[in-house]
Formats: sequence, structure tokens, C-alpha cells
Amino acid sequence: MAICKTEAIVIRTFDFRETSIIAEFFTRDFGRLKGILKGIRKDRKKFASTLEPFSLNEIIFYQSRNSELHLVSGCDLEDGFLNVRSDLKKIHLASFLMELVSALFAPEDKNEEAFEVILSSLEDLSSVNDPEKIISIAQIKLLRLSGFKPHFDSCVLCNNDISGEAKFSSKFGGLLCPKCAYRDSQIHPVLRGTIASIKHIERSGWSDTLRLNLAHPIKAELKNMLDKFLMFHLEKRLKTARFL
Ligand SMILES: [Zn+2]
Repeated sequence: MAICKTEAIVIRTFDFRETSIIAEFFTRDFGRLKGILKGIRKDRKKFASTLEPFSLNEIIFYQSRNSELHLVSGCDLEDGFLNVRSDLKKIHLASFLMELVSALFAPEDKNEEAFEVILSSLEDLSSVNDPEKIISIAQIKLLRLSGFKPHFDSCVLCNNDISGEAKFSSKFGGLLCPKCAYRDSQIHPVLRGTIASIKHIERSGWSDTLRLNLAHPIKAELKNMLDKFLMFHLEKRLKTARFL
């Protein structure tokens, strides 16, 4: 068994047997990872962290070869994001972010860029006063990094660029061009500003995206579209997983 050390953001924890905890982390070097912390509930001082959800820790673990559950022997708190924890709305958004990460990323698939996006999101949730914007930006970036490649710049059915009016289809989970629009009777038009914002967020670095000014209608539309897109794809993924 190899001993590994990495930075890890706690996605969630649950009690295991009488004294242990199983934790799901998103780590810098190993992606999403599950570990067991033995005896932590009997002896709280055994680890230098209480493993609060969305805290940043440095963990040491023994990498198991034949199980997805690794033995964590050390866990030191690096940042508890106390400013997020002191605001109910921010707690809610950070929790949503953790759920999103757990659903989007396959286990033990290293994705350092995604780790940086999650970390920057938590850092900026602590400091800025528009937390919803941070979450929308994180959502767009994490969707792309997890391989979902949202079709927000071309038609989800024929892949043609959309130059005229774009319409969003929940049924197909993306934008439809005017030629394909007839395939979904429930589609609704999308503001050009919303598409432009998504494209800008996809190609810009984290700090540049924070300067983006999102007007209220665009922000609301963005949130609505991203939620529907996510629901469409995660449901599809869950169905596929059930078949497998
Ligand atoms: Zn089309």
C-alpha cells in the first residue's frame, strides 16, 4: 500500500460503525476519493480536523489497490471557510456545489483544474457579496471540465452554429437552431446576453470571469438554464448507470 498526501475538500461525511467516519473528498491529486477515518468518533483529537463539509484539509492516506475506500491516517485542517459558514445562504450554495461535484465527477480521476475551480469558488464565496454569481460561474466551468460539454454555442441536435435566435430545449438538454426548433414544442427563447456570458465564462480564467457584470434577467435565465441542463444530463446518467 502506497502512502499518499494531498489537499482535499470534504464533499460529505457519514458515520460508519460505532467509531469511524467515511468521508468523500475532492482531492488535488486523485480527484474524487473516498476514505475511512477509523476511531475518529471515539477520539476526536486523533485527527486535527473535524471534517466539516466544504473545508479544505491536507490528508494522508494508504492507497488501497482493491477497494475504492482508502484508509485515511491523517487529516489537518487548512481552511474552514468560516465566512461561508456564518451565512446561511452561502452554506446552502456551498452545499449545492459539493453535491454537484459528487454527481459530475467519476471517482479517482485526477482533475486539478476542477479542484482549482472548487477551491476558488469557496474562497470567493467567503469574500464577495454576489454568491449566486460565483455558483453559476463554477457550474459552467465544472460542467465543461467534467466532460459534459454543454451545447451552448451550437445546436444540440445538428451541431450547427446558432447565428439567429437561440432557443433552449429541456427535452434535449441544450440550445436548438431555428431549423431544429420544431422538434420540441416546449422550447423557450434565450437572451443573447446569456449565451455571450456563458461563452465568456467558458473561455476566461477564474479572476476574469469575476469581473463579468451579470444583469438580473441574464443571471436568472442562466440559473434556470443550468439547472435544467443539469437535471437532463444527470437523469440520463443515472438511467444509464441503472442499466449497467
Ligand atoms: Zn439544429
